[in-house]
Amino acid sequence: MDAMVGDAIGSGYATKTCETPARAVQISGPSGNGGLVGGAVQQHTLKSSIHCMGVGLHSGRKVSLGLHPAAAGTGIIFRRTDLGIDIPARFDHVVDTRLCTVLADPAHPTARIGTVEHVMAALAGCGVSNALVTLDGPEAPILDGSAAGFTFLIDCAGLRAQHADAPVIEILRSVVVQEGESAAELHPGGTFPGLSATLSIDFAAAAIGSQEMSLDMTGENFRSMLAPARTFTQLHEVDQLRRAGLALGGSLDNAVVVDGEKVLNPGGLRMADEFVRHKLLDVVGDLALAGAVLHGRFIGHRSGHAMNNRLLRAVFAEPANWRLATEHDASTDDVPALSGRSGRQGNRMAIAAAPF
Ligand SMILES: [Zn+2]
Repeated sequence: MDAMVGDAIGSGYATKTCETPARAVQISGPSGNGGLVGGAVQQHTLKSSIHCMGVGLHSGRKVSLGLHPAAAGTGIIFRRTDLGIDIPARFDHVVDTRLCTVLADPAHPTARIGTVEHVMAALAGCGVSNALVTLDGPEAPILDGSAAGFTFLIDCAGLRAQHADAPVIEILRSVVVQEGESAAELHPGGTFPGLSATLSIDFAAAAIGSQEMSLDMTGENFRSMLAPARTFTQLHEVDQLRRAGLALGGSLDNAVVVDGEKVLNPGGLRMADEFVRHKLLDVVGDLALAGAVLHGRFIGHRSGHAMNNRLLRAVFAEPANWRLATEHDASTDDVPALSGRSGRQGNRMAIAAAPF
């Protein structure tokens, strides 16, 4: 764990020394699983602010990221500090999914924030219901290509329980989106009170091949099985991406690169099935844009950011597909509401009030 965290921060640095071992962070809930599970789970925010620096995978730009406490009911809000614009982390603010998940406020479509999925996955996986994420550029830092650096930062900041139950979106009807050989599905039920997920991938590159994983999305499972898994690409794609002005910050320090049957990173893989684990990590981050804990069963095959987002849009397009199981706002919370246009109209409140 220590080595993994050290690697995670290798291409960025935390500006606060972490004195809290990951295991020491206490998350309440029926099974201690924090924000990924349903049931009577309290909302949580960060105890304090924390920052890191890193580069954007696609822009290659150096960027400063801050994670800050936010009031109960706020949800996750991204703020472009260089532009003074807030963007709620919500599925209907996703404007691009070709290589990563990109958010923008419809009123300011050019003020984008890219590669939000790994920080979103870490926040969801660590049980953070409410937070302000500040960035001084157009893309979240890639760090080591996994979510481990962000979970490290969250552990450093610590969690604080808030006086409100976490809302839970219960899937009531099966919803399936499909394109070619890709499919993403959400189904009701499951014995686990949160999200259970099964994902399969199938790549021509022999180093990746076919991999499948099923997981109940507990906080513990997220931390140990998904958070360290790095993003990946194939060598022949790197030149194409660079010619298109993308992956400018990419390197073997922040992505697994495969060439046929070979893994080009000198250290090899962290886990034999690191590829499907990373894709499942992306699912957690992308589905966290629902704005609340999902209770249901996810099944994906060769799905990526585009399908994950289409799935959420399809779920919320029909009111009969879902219901908000829990929603109590906090009147006694001691974290002030965010200033700016979004404020307490963050993603959670918008979900509750949206005319879907
Ligand atoms: Zn990813």
